[in-house]
Amino acid sequence: MDSRLFVEAVQELNSGFVKLLESMSALRALSSIAVSGQAEEELLDGALQVLVQNQDLERCSVFMLQSEGVLANVAGLDWDDLVQREGGRRGGRSVTVFRPGEGIVGLAAQTGDLQHCRECHTDERFLSTCDESKPLPATVGSLISVPIKAAGEVLGVLNVSHPHANFFSESHERTLWVFSNFLAQMLMNNRLVHRMDRLVQERTAQLEQALADAEALKHRYERLSVIDELTELHNRRYFFPEARSALARAVRQHQPFAILLIDVDHFKRVNDRCGHAAGDQVLREVALCIRKEVREGDILARFGGEEFIVALPDTDQEGAMMLAERIREVLRECRWPVGEERLSVTLSIGLASRGERKITETQALLDRIVQEADQALYFGKHNGRDQCRAYSEIACDLDPAG
Ligand code: GH3
Ligand code: MG
Ligand code: MG
Repeated sequence: MDSRLFVEAVQELNSGFVKLLESMSALRALSSIAVSGQAEEELLDGALQVLVQNQDLERCSVFMLQSEGVLANVAGLDWDDLVQREGGRRGGRSVTVFRPGEGIVGLAAQTGDLQHCRECHTDERFLSTCDESKPLPATVGSLISVPIKAAGEVLGVLNVSHPHANFFSESHERTLWVFSNFLAQMLMNNRLVHRMDRLVQERTAQLEQALADAEALKHRYERLSVIDELTELHNRRYFFPEARSALARAVRQHQPFAILLIDVDHFKRVNDRCGHAAGDQVLREVALCIRKEVREGDILARFGGEEFIVALPDTDQEGAMMLAERIREVLRECRWPVGEERLSVTLSIGLASRGERKITETQALLDRIVQEADQALYFGKHNGRDQCRAYSEIACDLDPAG
């Protein structure tokens, strides 16, 4: 074999080998870009840098298909830069857009095939997008536009240009095809990660909201379970544990403790005469009046029906009687308009205090005091109503031995 031919063959083989290595290293560099749901522009900028560093293709750009159906420059050189200026300019995007089918970029997107302008200055696909009033750009002699396709869908177009005509070879075409397929897959993966991230964020927000709702609901039901709906006073469920701990404290600290049981007199008549709704309204008003008279720290509850109960920590029998009389007097002065009438009610109140007792179990002691207050209340009922009675004063009437 002619040694010149041999040298030429070796050189050609060598140059092919170098190109292959460059292509491989470009793909390797591309595949090492982490796909983490970052902004698409960031990913594309990274990909174009790989082209610049491994393929010496400085004049490159990516146009992505936008939701409005146009192709807009999102990475690399903008069109004006790509065709008319020396060197590159990053950042500061211009507004160049192509419709599918328009110019070489639009054609690549529309056909889904690589478009190769070997001599741009005579190629109609290229000239159709040039401004006739301006001289043809000297910086672009040849140009390749490769569609970026994934699962048959065109996502955008990758463009590379060179000032010389006929610069790009078939091996460039092949490399750019493989490169753009890789890029498309990365973009799809990135979009997937992005979607997953968004989904996770949405689900997390929904979960947080559901938890907050559940917490609010729990508080609401906790509150509802201890609040009487009609009067908005606490109910028995709240009263007994609270009163029990107050009584235990009083016993421990040798403090007085008293209970008032309050019952509306002849309340049945109110319902019978004015109706159940008016009766409800009266119960609300009575509850409000009592609430205004008790102190902070007193434990007030609707005991049931038209009965109310107040536990008075740190209050002896004398103090409890003063409060009972005050409540009774305030109530008997109240008038509530019902139809043409002005309605009033009276109260009977029984009270009992802790005193000195042998009972050591708090619940039993509390039950006993409540029971005594109840007896005092019914003593008042049987003796004309509209009065306050203390158990200690009536005890001998009830039980002559005691
Ligand atoms: P006394 O002076 O002996 O206590 O007579 P009274 O009529 O108040 O007592 P009685 O126990 O005979 O009747 C209580 C009435 O209270 C009967 C019941 O229908 C009424 N009542 C109980 N709870 C409610 C309520 O939530 N709303 C209304 N409107 N009435 C209620
Ligand atoms: Mg009653
Ligand atoms: Mg009553």
